[in-house]
Amino acid sequence: MQTLRNKSVFFETYGCTFNFADTEKIKEIAAANGCLIAQSPEDADAVVINTCTVVSQTERAMIRAINDYADKEVYVTGCMPVVQREKLLALRPDIHLIMPDEIYEKSERVGAVAFGSTGIVQVGTGCLGACAYCITRFARGRLRSFGKERIIAEIERQVADGVTEIQLTGQDVSAWGADIGSNLGELLTAVNEVDGNFAVRVGMMNPATVMPHVAEIAEAFTLEKIYAFIHLPVQSGSDRVLETMNRGYTRRQFIDVVGEFRRRIPDARISTDFIVGYPTETEEDFNETLSLIDEVKPTKVNITRFSLREGTPAAKYYDMPDWIKKNRSRKLTDAANAIYDANNAAMIGRTVHAAVTEKKTEGRMAGTVVARDRFYNNIVVKEDLPLGKKLDLRIVDHHRHYLIAETL
Ligand code: SF4
Repeated sequence: MQTLRNKSVFFETYGCTFNFADTEKIKEIAAANGCLIAQSPEDADAVVINTCTVVSQTERAMIRAINDYADKEVYVTGCMPVVQREKLLALRPDIHLIMPDEIYEKSERVGAVAFGSTGIVQVGTGCLGACAYCITRFARGRLRSFGKERIIAEIERQVADGVTEIQLTGQDVSAWGADIGSNLGELLTAVNEVDGNFAVRVGMMNPATVMPHVAEIAEAFTLEKIYAFIHLPVQSGSDRVLETMNRGYTRRQFIDVVGEFRRRIPDARISTDFIVGYPTETEEDFNETLSLIDEVKPTKVNITRFSLREGTPAAKYYDMPDWIKKNRSRKLTDAANAIYDANNAAMIGRTVHAAVTEKKTEGRMAGTVVARDRFYNNIVVKEDLPLGKKLDLRIVDHHRHYLIAETL
């Protein structure tokens, strides 16, 4: 990053919420070194690309993005410089690599205001997992939790800047504290005590790191400022597949973890992730995945087709044909859509208390706002309301991925 000085720089960011906060931090460092932040690549001398390489499709997109800037100085950060350094240097010998740790050395901050009134706060880097398919752990390493005081200070700073939604992020947020003698339940309790008009969306939590503190963590989600939106990637409904993925929990344990949250918050929204077409997955295993979402009825399902990543233990397996992955992905999507439609239809006529978190200014949604209720439901209101406003809304209609409401 030494040479990122006195230039006009354009930024492109890919991947997870964590990366978007890192980009904002590099922008701050670059601006402090006399750089201008360009709004378009045409106006830039240099381009910083914050990369993701979680699946091979994304890796290919990163390479295309780098090739798009043959006439520019290119800086690459994110996961690729750590796990695919040789590949990047072979692609462009003059490429500048910014290692993630360099960002944390140069910036005291553990987050940034990223989208309007939404801020991202990073709770730490790395994780405790050894998931067989995952390349991210090689990029981000072992868990390093950021201190509670730094996280609270970042939240206070963002709330003072007008942020009304805080997104807590990390490779595995529920691992937070395991290396510093604390846990996520304690952190969320402290966050809830911060003054201000804001609410917190907690990022991805591995069921394996939730289990040791499930009562405390689930209790913390009952707190006023914590959205009852629980993102618990399960990845498969089959114990045999979970074992070969080395996820560290069983189907039963996952269901029990969900149960701990629902016992305290019956309407809690459960979001989960599945990998379809994992090399060891048979048709029977896949049917167990289908039966799991039927049993748990998650309100958000993220589906990834297995992608073989070099250097991971799963790379030794035979990678099944794409058509099988496509079929399973389609079946799982259909099953998830049926749950969304049923859940959203059941909301019609209900009154909810929500806060306006986003204004839509472009496209067919222009002039509407998005509000979020306690469960982080995505609620569209066809009225121009101020950001941060809290109000009661009646749900009058629904779309597959959002509710439509009117003010009372
Ligand atoms: S918990 Fe597993 S999937 Fe998540 S980053 Fe760590 S190794 Fe990868």
